[in-house]
Amino acid sequence: MQALQIAIDGPASSGKSTVAKLLAKKHGYTYLDTGAMYRAATYLALQEGLDLEDGAGIVAALDAAPISFGRNTGGEQLVYVGSIDITDAIRQPDVTQAVSTVAALPAVREKLVQQQQALAQAGEIVMDGRDIGTTVLPQAQVKIFLVASVDERAERRYKENLSRGIETDLEALKAEIAERDYKDSHRQVSPLKPAADATHFDTTGVSIDGVLAFIESEIEKIN
Ligand code: C5P
Repeated sequence: MQALQIAIDGPASSGKSTVAKLLAKKHGYTYLDTGAMYRAATYLALQEGLDLEDGAGIVAALDAAPISFGRNTGGEQLVYVGSIDITDAIRQPDVTQAVSTVAALPAVREKLVQQQQALAQAGEIVMDGRDIGTTVLPQAQVKIFLVASVDERAERRYKENLSRGIETDLEALKAEIAERDYKDSHRQVSPLKPAADATHFDTTGVSIDGVLAFIESEIEKIN
């Protein structure tokens, strides 16, 4: 198989990261969770008490404490800013609520997109996010845009939280997902939208294996 760049975009909780991780593992590719990078920038802004609209300030904080990735002994991905492990912190509600505001800042996007493109240079990468097919890797050979109903996405997240022992309110989850989608789709720079040449797939009612099989069939088409 030729070395591919695989771009998986879609709205919040559409199953992107789960399938992207599995795909990367199966093909021995690098997986890059670009959402984790915007979450890391947001974590830094909150931690340092920066104005969430202060793009230059947040970029300076990222320069002082660069984002990096590692793995624990179980092979799971860890996220760092500087030497601080923020893997769990970036999934907390304060970060989730603020991330779309920080992700709309052009200076922050410019910096993170540069890093993402540098990481993709060697090829053999699966990247998930909102603007991978349109902006980060417009030349990617495989571009998938995953969607699912808000109800289904909220229910998946509800179950995922329960399995981690976190009790959440389903209606609040639906509202949070819909609001994040709205903000991500309506920002000026690189809004959430499918690339013109992306293949759309609705994952509502489809198992992870079903989504994987679909993406594998897309990969086979170009090999
Ligand atoms: O993928 P995840 O839900 O963790 O992404 C968190 C947020 O990061 C998104 O709601 C969006 O605001 C931002 N994001 C982005 N561009 C990407 C990936 C994520 O703007 N490529």
